[in-house]
Amino acid sequence: MLRIKRVPTIVSNYQKEEGEEGSRGCGRNCLNNCCIQGASLPLYAFKRLNKIGSDKGVVGQEDRELPVAFLDSLLLGEWEDRMRRGLFRYDVTACETKVIPGDYGFIAQLNEGRHLKKRPTEFRVDKVLQPFDGNKFNFTKVGQEEVLFRFEASDDGEVRFFPNSPIDVENSPTVVAINVSPIEYGHVLLIPRVLECLPQRIDRDSFMLALHMAAEAGNPYFRLGYNSLGAFATINHLHFQAYYLAVPFPIEKVPTKKITTLDGGLKISELLNYPVRGLVFEGGNTLQDLSNTVSNACICLQNNNIPYNVLISDCGRRIFLVPQCYAEKQALGEVSAELLETQVNPAVWEISGHMVLKRRKDYEEASEGNAWRLLAEVSLSEERFQEVIALIFEAVSCGENGNGSVVLEEPDGKSPSLEGVNASNKSTRPTMVNGTLECLVLQ
Ligand SMILES: [Zn+2]
Repeated sequence: MLRIKRVPTIVSNYQKEEGEEGSRGCGRNCLNNCCIQGASLPLYAFKRLNKIGSDKGVVGQEDRELPVAFLDSLLLGEWEDRMRRGLFRYDVTACETKVIPGDYGFIAQLNEGRHLKKRPTEFRVDKVLQPFDGNKFNFTKVGQEEVLFRFEASDDGEVRFFPNSPIDVENSPTVVAINVSPIEYGHVLLIPRVLECLPQRIDRDSFMLALHMAAEAGNPYFRLGYNSLGAFATINHLHFQAYYLAVPFPIEKVPTKKITTLDGGLKISELLNYPVRGLVFEGGNTLQDLSNTVSNACICLQNNNIPYNVLISDCGRRIFLVPQCYAEKQALGEVSAELLETQVNPAVWEISGHMVLKRRKDYEEASEGNAWRLLAEVSLSEERFQEVIALIFEAVSCGENGNGSVVLEEPDGKSPSLEGVNASNKSTRPTMVNGTLECLVLQ
């Protein structure tokens, strides 16, 4: 059996104690049945949004009762409180960070603490969809003190905040929790309907929640990210990550080429001059349209077993979708020893240009060339990328947003029909390595 050495990341303080819990009243004040009865958490109830604002953020912002920055201050205030309480595994604010000289502004961080003291876990890296396994670490096992607040739609269409809201176990709460191995200031996890124990897979409702969070935060430095299984998610329990970084990510700055505009004005473009091939979704009539289109694309990738990462930028107005094949190349032995030795896992943040490095040597030698070489290995080939675009277009045009009228736009102004693109599907090669590759995470 082929085993891949990988370095996992611990995202909760209780992850390392997996399997050590008692049967009930486990003493850790967790989110499971043993401890959740009678518990309460702060609740941030957001207003369901229909429109994405054109210039000043979200439509409806002007008649909010709470200041625009409220979610920001709540999140950061609670996060800093957890830092004071010593819940993080290391002080991320002490990690060295620099912008790598060059045209792109890749950001390098030296984070030597992140991969220490890990315990072995086994999971497959060749399947994007895997069932939830309650015996493995999941977010019902985190301590309630790791949860900052609940984030749920308000009942009455107004933004509300309740400092102490009882948890209704029947109505699984969506929570925002700290990532105890943060890679930046304010690093949190958004865990939709945590008690439902959903596996790591995008669905429409959950994606809409993530977009709402981006829009509600209303801060361009706050981005959400998603890693599918096979694209360096480390926990098979549905979650998004998010943090603040006060500089643009390189992926946000590169030029794009419009591929198509869907009904309703939603624009899909392709990244240009970037080491990883990817798509950008933006615009459209409503936040729901944008959310549905991107989730349809994600669901299509999942169903085709294509690992991918998503970055939600610009307060939810721009979404980057990047299919990747690094784990597949690793499994096939196609990644150079030099890259493997860095133990860098190219997940959404690295792909966006924020390189989290584990060795001082790599940090000191960080260069645009090195970042580019790593990310180029993550990217699909041009041929494969075009095949994947065709699959995605088929999915988004058959979804509720489209009526099958996706028209590709070529630089020369010609607009070939989608049938021409679909024809190239016939050459599709197997999407991932078949078989029983396992990922053995070593201590
Ligand atoms: Zn418990």
